Amino acid sequence: MPAIDLLVRGASWPSTKAPWRDQNALLPEDRVDLLVAGGKVVDLAPSGSIEAEAAEVVEAESLTLLPGLIDAHTHLREPGFEYKEDIASGLAAAAAGGFSAIMCMANTRPVNDNATVTELMLRKAAAAHPNGPRLFPVAGLTLGLAGETLAPLGELARAGCVAASNDGLPVKNTELFRRAMEYAATVDLPVIDHCEDPYLAPGAGMNEGRTSALLGLRGQPAAAEAIQVARDILLADELEIPIHLAHVSCRESVELIAWGKERGIPVTAETCPHYLFLTEEACEGYNTLAKVNPPLRTRDDVVALRQALGSGVIDILATDHAPHADHEKETPFSDAPCGLTGLDTALAWTWRLVREGALSAEEFMRAWATGPGRIFRLPANGFVAGDPADFLLFDPEEAWEVTPEMLRSKSKNTPLLGSTLHGRVKAHFIAGRRIV
Ligand SMILES: [Zn+2]
Repeated sequence: MPAIDLLVRGASWPSTKAPWRDQNALLPEDRVDLLVAGGKVVDLAPSGSIEAEAAEVVEAESLTLLPGLIDAHTHLREPGFEYKEDIASGLAAAAAGGFSAIMCMANTRPVNDNATVTELMLRKAAAAHPNGPRLFPVAGLTLGLAGETLAPLGELARAGCVAASNDGLPVKNTELFRRAMEYAATVDLPVIDHCEDPYLAPGAGMNEGRTSALLGLRGQPAAAEAIQVARDILLADELEIPIHLAHVSCRESVELIAWGKERGIPVTAETCPHYLFLTEEACEGYNTLAKVNPPLRTRDDVVALRQALGSGVIDILATDHAPHADHEKETPFSDAPCGLTGLDTALAWTWRLVREGALSAEEFMRAWATGPGRIFRLPANGFVAGDPADFLLFDPEEAWEVTPEMLRSKSKNTPLLGSTLHGRVKAHFIAGRRIV
């Protein structure tokens, strides 16, 4: 055994399945030790079962061991909109919220459609948070996200982008989108698509249904998303090129993705915490904090998404962290920008699914860590020897009220303001080094 740098002793492991060695089943009360050397996992074993001399020992009794989470979908607003968020504040929210790695979308100003912007993002991240969280930029798929000319994806991949997307402004021209998928595949960049028909009430931020009728607001039907989900799955089949679908919000999309997966089509998908807990009713009172794109939908959609996450039809969770300033949200509903923040609250919020038995701990870890790691080929901790030692010591019982002061993100636009969550990150290690 190599010299051990760090021994985390006596943590509780949330699952009765062990991801290491002979897969022995554990009892719920079993505690584990984690051994780290050179920034990597050496072993995870029942507590006290391994004799090891470690340079540093962390006593973790009463805390739960979790992998560092990976968020495949955030908006960090820098360059161009630093009054909403910047790379330093976004990564600070990620660190406090339990995210060891985050991917940031290209809708900055200027757009991240060339290597200069990617390099600027990576430089800012390294300067503000040299020990992580790790930042992985997503390249704009088209120049200026205008949907007309493909961005130089080879250059963007070489500069450090890990995927490409026109997020927020989906490419209308299916021929161009097909060429984009083919080009991205040749430079090994997975394509992420925000599915939204460009003509069916784009960006309404409100579901078409009972609540939109009551409030007299223009709503967007679920079909607006599902139409483009179907297009993308058929293209992925035709081209045999993988596609990843962002922030899926409705049952119709889930059923199409299930159909695609049954046929072996290379489609993967994410949903977000808010689609698992909130419905269109959250918009009542013209609550702009609940205005998001795609919009919050119905109880039936929540049920379908929860089932799909458990069964693996929906592969992963992502926050779609979308900070906006107070003055932008304090406007009439139809004028307010879409989006809510998520990095500070996502772990505690979604841990509720595990607490309530709606999701197993293994499914939770797959959705937030190993799943995004696999899809985007990022370092992810599955607690197997050689994995990056990115992990959390989490107190699942600690209650906290969501107030502006508790949020590290520069913007406070979350419909959770005023509510109580359970679960706090007490320590956060990246590559074996403590950052929180
Ligand atoms: Zn989007």
